[in-house]
Amino acid sequence: MPLYDLHSHSSASDGELSPSELIQRASSRQVNVLALTDHDTTAGLVEAHRENQRLANPMTLIDGVEISSSWHNFDIHIVGLMVDVENKKFQHFLAEQRQKRTDRALEIGRRLEKAKMLGAYDGAKKLAGDAAISRAHFARWMVEQGYVKNMNAVFSKYLVRGKTGYVPNQWADITDVIQQIHDAGGVAVLAHPSRYKMTTKWLRRLLKDFCSAGGDAMEVRFAQQTTADKQLLLTLAKEFNLYTSLGSDFHAPSPWVDLGKNLYVSEQHPWIWKSSRWQEKITELEYV
Ligand code: AMP
Ligand code: MN
Ligand code: MN
Ligand code: MN
Repeated sequence: MPLYDLHSHSSASDGELSPSELIQRASSRQVNVLALTDHDTTAGLVEAHRENQRLANPMTLIDGVEISSSWHNFDIHIVGLMVDVENKKFQHFLAEQRQKRTDRALEIGRRLEKAKMLGAYDGAKKLAGDAAISRAHFARWMVEQGYVKNMNAVFSKYLVRGKTGYVPNQWADITDVIQQIHDAGGVAVLAHPSRYKMTTKWLRRLLKDFCSAGGDAMEVRFAQQTTADKQLLLTLAKEFNLYTSLGSDFHAPSPWVDLGKNLYVSEQHPWIWKSSRWQEKITELEYV
């Protein structure tokens, strides 16, 4: 059974490793099938493919993206896998998402300035470089400047709903996001369902809407999960007749989260790679 990791980030968004470093790390950690899924951008994929082709044993590298959407005041993340990165309409849509990121970042910067953190936008932007800017860049800058001791503390004190630096965003709605992914030939996967801090009742509502909108799969395995959570997600996937997916959501090397870590699974579940769409696409890929 190959080792799959279908959710990861590079420095094209808020990950710390360059796409090449990510490929090297995934390969040395024995990952067989890797999806690079940066936030609202596919810009890291060219370098990732180039590096992968240089390996003695290239992995299967899946073109992916993690798209932010808004649903009832929650930021819901939807991963698109096997998307056609050359689809113009899709790239136009992702560019709009990144524009929303830029506008939001400018506003976050203004709010942090009011809280006496001068140069916050410029600092975060410098860390982001050409990457899709994220709250994570602000958090990293604030830690570097010594305003707050670690990333978790920055988020809970400044960057979550109700705090000084929180700026609500109207991302695309889940129906649009799923449609865009499908139009670009991809499969739509609900990312990390248990990280939204919602009750199971709300999660069921989300899954119902996700399914009505044509969503294909949900992640059931990711880093730092309890056994009860794994069980709940598998039960929900079955209840809603969704395929299952998994990924580390790797952003940076850490003792708890790493590429492929704790992602060994048994075949019995309806894994996304068993779907006909996946099978069709993977056949095309292996001819490339
Ligand atoms: P954004 O997409 O700009 O809203 O930023 C969200 C990103 O911030 C997520 O993708 C995570 O990478 C990161 N993030 C969210 N919460 C935390 C946290 N508590 N500690 C560290 N990083 C976080
Ligand atoms: Mn992130
Ligand atoms: Mn996410
Ligand atoms: Mn992610």
